[in-house]
Amino acid sequence: MAANILLVEDEPAIQELIAANLGRAGHHVVRAGDAETAQRIVRDALPDLVLLDWMLPGMSGIELARRLRADERTRTIPIIMLTARGEEQDKVAGLEMGADDYITKPFSPRELVARIKAVLRRRAPQATEDPVELGGLSLDPATHRVAAGERPVTLGPTEFRLLHFLMTHPERVHSRAQLLDQVWGDHVFVEERTVDVHVRRLRAALEPVGHDGLIQTVRGSGYRLSAQPAVAGV
Ligand code: CA
Repeated sequence: MAANILLVEDEPAIQELIAANLGRAGHHVVRAGDAETAQRIVRDALPDLVLLDWMLPGMSGIELARRLRADERTRTIPIIMLTARGEEQDKVAGLEMGADDYITKPFSPRELVARIKAVLRRRAPQATEDPVELGGLSLDPATHRVAAGERPVTLGPTEFRLLHFLMTHPERVHSRAQLLDQVWGDHVFVEERTVDVHVRRLRAALEPVGHDGLIQTVRGSGYRLSAQPAVAGV
């Protein structure tokens, strides 16, 4: 499992320790020493998960969590709060503010890595290496293999990530902007029609095995992967 993790922590020694451990666990870590820097980073590219210290200089971690939850674009980013406070009411406040989990310092690196894995599995399955099966297609992130039954499907890296995201979020309509954020990870420098190009390539790759119909165009909205046949006229 390799996820893009935004680590927001103002104490350099702790930041270093956490980043080193997450790096060893295979994650890509982007660091911020305060909430304002973290907001700038999130504006450029959505992370798969935010590891957020409660006590920060300037805006607090809990306030940043509240803002991420209030913004449509960042609403679903998984958040794990880090805190030196161990009181039950703080934990409740953190979870009410929308944190997915809560870890009290000091914690072991192994515990942190395990908690991250659990939250990603629950909230961002496209960032885990769990195999996915849907509508007769199987995709294995660990080996980068896609197959329809016994028949292998060859995909480019972007089509693979696109299919992985769609298969882990089926039956939902995703706008082009959302797909850029989730699959390309950076919505600033890529045009929305790029999404159409890669959807076309993905369909072309799925056509020989008869699965191109899984990727449906929802007019005026975006794309959806569905194991149900598309409704006529949609
Ligand atoms: Ca702190």
